Amino acid sequence: MRYVQIDTQSDPESDSFPSTSKQKDLSQMLAHELREMGIADAHMDEWGYVYATIPSNSPNKVPVICFCAHVDTAPDCSGTHVKPLLHKNYQGQDIVLPDDPTQVISTKNHPYLLERMGDDIITASGLTLLGADDKAGVAVIMELAKRLQEDPAIPHGEVKILFTPDEEVGRGVEHVDMKKLGADFGYTLDGSERGSLEFETFSADGVEITLQGVIAHPGSAKGKMVNAIKLGAAFLDALPKHEWAPEVTAGREGFVHPTDIKGGAESATLKFIVRDFDTKKLQLHEERLEGILKEVLSAYPNCSYSFVVKEQYRNMREVIDQHPDIIRHAQAAMRACGIDPVSSPVRGGTDGSRLSFMGLPCPNLFTGEMALHSKQEFVSVQDMEKATAVLVNLLQQWEGAAVG
Ligand SMILES: [Zn+2]
Repeated sequence: MRYVQIDTQSDPESDSFPSTSKQKDLSQMLAHELREMGIADAHMDEWGYVYATIPSNSPNKVPVICFCAHVDTAPDCSGTHVKPLLHKNYQGQDIVLPDDPTQVISTKNHPYLLERMGDDIITASGLTLLGADDKAGVAVIMELAKRLQEDPAIPHGEVKILFTPDEEVGRGVEHVDMKKLGADFGYTLDGSERGSLEFETFSADGVEITLQGVIAHPGSAKGKMVNAIKLGAAFLDALPKHEWAPEVTAGREGFVHPTDIKGGAESATLKFIVRDFDTKKLQLHEERLEGILKEVLSAYPNCSYSFVVKEQYRNMREVIDQHPDIIRHAQAAMRACGIDPVSSPVRGGTDGSRLSFMGLPCPNLFTGEMALHSKQEFVSVQDMEKATAVLVNLLQQWEGAAVG
């Protein structure tokens, strides 16, 4: 509840890093609190990353495990003056948020609440998001650090802590120093429902299309002008409406999705995201998209376009599958804590998707954060406590499997 009161909203329009300097307010504080626990090397670097090391207390050669969470909150919804509210011993009612009573966290829209009867639920007050995404993950890791520092009887290898800025604007791992981090395997703490263990994400590309129309004075444009805005509209209208879009796909289906359009009569730029679990299919989606564009433009021989594809991230499963222990130990740790692990493919990416391809295989573990990026965000205190318990056990799984 302390961490969510610090405004750490990131900004997709910013070119600086971190995208907003206020994210460093929390990062500084976390580094300071880690040092106060006795973790001597805890510090924030120039980019706003927090690194900390808890040395091994095991005689065995245990892989170095990193736990990672992001400090920023989503740009979708205000993160200024967050007022966290604790609803103790939740009894299954709809939760009306007091500062805007039209914001109701209903069990109809959020049936997971009914699984959390008797828990203590934290919400925002109605005017802002809560920021449990991902301050729940931050809190879980901070609590783990405290537990390990206080109880040397918990056997573990070397533990690395990493807090990142700018996850919500897709730049969270841009300046991670992998060598300095020095971890073998990692886990992000940024998942939702209790038991969630995610190791399969979308593969993702971005496409930027610029349409060049034909400009003329509107008073004498007859037979000459081609308005780029109208070209863009015709192209968008030509896209399939009942398939191949996020609003009509689910499960393992991929899609293309326009995210931004800007322009004038002379030229217009459209941005798309392209998503699939099968990396090879991205190119097929892009060819299909360009094919539709060509077809629309074939009626306008004096117009032209550019079509630029940028790789965004890749399905982490390609990496995780080579290291089955990462998943096996996480499943064992959850079961030891009385939790059934549930794995489903993530229709999105995580910082872990990129970290996995930067040499740190990194699935995502639950924290209890729910209804992300909205004013109705909530988190169960008991879910966060369970997540910490899972991490304590997970370190023991790694330690126990290691040999001297
Ligand atoms: Zn998150």
